[in-house]
Amino acid sequence: MPFEYAPAPEATDHVRIAPRYDLFIGGRFVRAHSRRRFPTVNPATEEVLSEVAEADEADVDRAATAAAGAFPAWSALPASRRARYVFRLSRLIQERARELAVVETLDGGKPIKESRDVDVPLAAAHFFYYAGWADKLEWAFPNRRPRPLGVAGQVIPWNFPLLMLAWKVAPALAAGNTLVLKPAETTPLTAMLFADICQQAELPPGVVNIVTGGGQTGALVVGHPAVRKVAFTGSTEVGKLIQRQLAGTGKRLTLELGGKAANVVFDDAPLDQAVEGIVNGIYFNQGHVCCAGSRLLVQESIVGPLLEKLKQRLGTLRVGDPLDKNTDVGAINSPQQLEKIRGLVQSGVEEGAELYQPECRLPERGYWFPPTLFTNVAQSSRIAREEIFGPVLSVLTFRTPDEAVEKANNTPYGLSAGVWTEKGSRILWMSERMRAGVVWANTYNRFDPTSPFGGYKESGFGREGGLQGLLPYVELAR
Ligand code: NAP
Ligand code: MG
Repeated sequence: MPFEYAPAPEATDHVRIAPRYDLFIGGRFVRAHSRRRFPTVNPATEEVLSEVAEADEADVDRAATAAAGAFPAWSALPASRRARYVFRLSRLIQERARELAVVETLDGGKPIKESRDVDVPLAAAHFFYYAGWADKLEWAFPNRRPRPLGVAGQVIPWNFPLLMLAWKVAPALAAGNTLVLKPAETTPLTAMLFADICQQAELPPGVVNIVTGGGQTGALVVGHPAVRKVAFTGSTEVGKLIQRQLAGTGKRLTLELGGKAANVVFDDAPLDQAVEGIVNGIYFNQGHVCCAGSRLLVQESIVGPLLEKLKQRLGTLRVGDPLDKNTDVGAINSPQQLEKIRGLVQSGVEEGAELYQPECRLPERGYWFPPTLFTNVAQSSRIAREEIFGPVLSVLTFRTPDEAVEKANNTPYGLSAGVWTEKGSRILWMSERMRAGVVWANTYNRFDPTSPFGGYKESGFGREGGLQGLLPYVELAR
């Protein structure tokens, strides 16, 4: 019998969201040449929060020109001064953490406890970490002289809006580049607050430019001739489009794309701990996580007890108002994403997998999907192969470690993986063999700015985070 919790809503009265936001170009908010705007809604209530500008070709050109104009002075600044700016951005994110967390939750639907305890602190930590590199670049790559590239064009998705911004903006600035960033259509608001933070930090005009809009605006940013380096996080489909668009242009490119991670549980794993890790792996951020542990591989001898514990735990997850501090699973980011999840879940049922959903009351308005678990999943079925990007777990089994490796690697993706066992030797054995950029052992979805993150195969290439995360933003001269 789950506990009943009294409502514990996060206060929102300290937050002011403007009814309209313009583009952030050359250090100022400017009206879009296009004169077009689009609404961004709160997916938990379907209320319009604000209207943002839709940047067209002339707008993107203005932004890229501003970035190109700011580059010579920014890259020539003494490194310790550049470090100070990046450090200041980090401190301001910390100072405005509550406001950023509430806006992130309102605009994207994720539980406040996640935006407050994960997204915002990690975003600040990224700026803090790369501020530390800014004046030590000379020593970062022995016997090489790192030089900035120029203007970076950066396009990010809606699942971790501020955090993805930090992953892109912090290393670019620390290395001495200027940039044009396009946030996702459904979650532009924390990027608008970040523009305000850039003004507050007195960042030189044109160093950071933010243009809102849809996929078309993203394509314009990526394609602009002044852009020397493109950093994209999003779907594999759009990643491929961009790769085609950039072929032959000589632009540098890093792609952080989708995933379908295996979370492998051996029979010697501590089960209660594993259950927490499995839940964190797939229901964190409603499963809108590129590295989500969406394929659970369980050693056959423990399937029964593990599933029993897991189902029981699912029944205690609180789904609902993202602003409530007790909420574990918030709203689905958009009606389009909800449709996609529903479609794939339907295909799972049609292909013969067994569906389990705990009883839970979903709010009437907004976009919701209950935590879902599939057993009896065939390796060939869509729910075992395709990225669902929702709170849906597919459970498969294995008998031997070799079989676990084979099944874990049986995917076009290779972003992340998890392994649960009490044997250190087995952890090492597994992580050597699983083709994934990150392997978590006896934990899941842990992030740290010092640790590189990125994929193999269709999950993309290039690394973000750590010393490796600086590499895409520099040219190494002798
Ligand atoms: P998406 O559709 O690929 O969109 C990502 C971004 O690209 C958005 O800002 C989007 O604008 C823009 N865009 C769309 N078409 C474009 C084009 N032709 N040229 C340039 N930009 C374009 O992906 P999503 O649905 O927002 O995000 C979910 C995907 O991101 C998942 O597959 C997930 O695995 C992946 N992801 C990967 C990582 C990682 O680090 N590997 C991290 C987070 C998410 P609109 O918003 O207007 O569509
Ligand atoms: Mg929104």
